[in-house]
Amino acid sequence: MEELLKHVDRISDQQDSMLATITRLCDINSGTLNLAGVKKVTNELVKLFEPLGGDLQLIDTMPWSVVGDDGKRTEQPLGEIIHIIKHPEAEKKVMLCIHCDTVYGIDNEFQKCQMTAGGQLNGPGVADAKGGLIVMLEALKTLEASALAGKIGWEVIINPDEEVGSPGSTSFLRSRAGGCDFGLLFEPALPGGGLVSWRKGTGNFTFVVRGKSAHSGRDFESGRNAIVALARLLDEIDRLNIEPDVTYNVGRITGGGAVNIVPELAVGRVNVRVCNLEQQSGVEIDFADLVEKYNQLDGISVELTGSFSSPPKALEDNVKPLQHRIARCAEALDIDMTWQGTGGACDGNKFASAGLPNIDTLGPCGGHIHSMHEFLIPESLVPRAKLVSLILLGYAAEA
Ligand SMILES: [Zn+2]
Repeated sequence: MEELLKHVDRISDQQDSMLATITRLCDINSGTLNLAGVKKVTNELVKLFEPLGGDLQLIDTMPWSVVGDDGKRTEQPLGEIIHIIKHPEAEKKVMLCIHCDTVYGIDNEFQKCQMTAGGQLNGPGVADAKGGLIVMLEALKTLEASALAGKIGWEVIINPDEEVGSPGSTSFLRSRAGGCDFGLLFEPALPGGGLVSWRKGTGNFTFVVRGKSAHSGRDFESGRNAIVALARLLDEIDRLNIEPDVTYNVGRITGGGAVNIVPELAVGRVNVRVCNLEQQSGVEIDFADLVEKYNQLDGISVELTGSFSSPPKALEDNVKPLQHRIARCAEALDIDMTWQGTGGACDGNKFASAGLPNIDTLGPCGGHIHSMHEFLIPESLVPRAKLVSLILLGYAAEA
């Protein structure tokens, strides 16, 4: 370990340059659906990662199939994936992955970075996850500058659609999961610096209910009210909230038009969180039963789309050696390491469900993500980059 610690010394004075690069990347809007902005950031990242060498490819994502408030399906194009493979001949291989999109669209008022009076960097995506991108880059630079370069192969995936659940990149992520020994992902650390050990799974579901329109005065009886049917269905779903492990959030409802018309269309959207696969299939069965039940109603049809795009990420036995590895490196760097579960999902869930053990919160410390108050703690950049470097160097040094 002593020997390896020397290699990470090069990072000690990198805070300012890391912070400058993060600021530059965050000042470019890359809200998931801002394809021009995502492309700009992708180009910047290619320039930053190219000097590492390796085979760099831009991969097209699948379009995102979205059901609109009109009940119709459209295909939403998404940005490109950056994929780099280096030292493929090495026996040991590590996956490093994080996204370059943010939740802040082009019309969001939160567009530029600023330093706060308290010395934090406030800006769109500073913690989630452009800070993580630069931590990942710095660690790979350190590995490649060391005598251990080539002892492990590595693969980098930077995807452009994580903030909407990675609909366009999931199949690619899953297809690469089998080729590596473990995965490191760079979502922001928990506010106190802790790492996430397990995550709930999550799925978004859309219920499209169709009835029959009619004039509410002249012809009320012949109408079939889609809003009322949907409201009853959603109420039944809400009543399924009986154990804290499984939660159903009725998040959005649209439908109807003029008040004197019996509405013929209503769309309801539900987000569900589960802790394990058994609960996941329980939800799927319950939803199928509800759809069948409401389809029996006279003149009403219900269509369900959606799935558990992020299956639950339980703390499986195959993750524990990786946790121990990270804990040893943290100890060598005098970093306090704590572990915690969370209800939020990320691409770590997808890798885990495809069999790749991974830890997914190796990005810098920050907080208030997905809000105007998102911030990054600059002093966490160097320790995080050192930690990740040490994880890679340690694995490379093992016989
Ligand atoms: Zn993120």
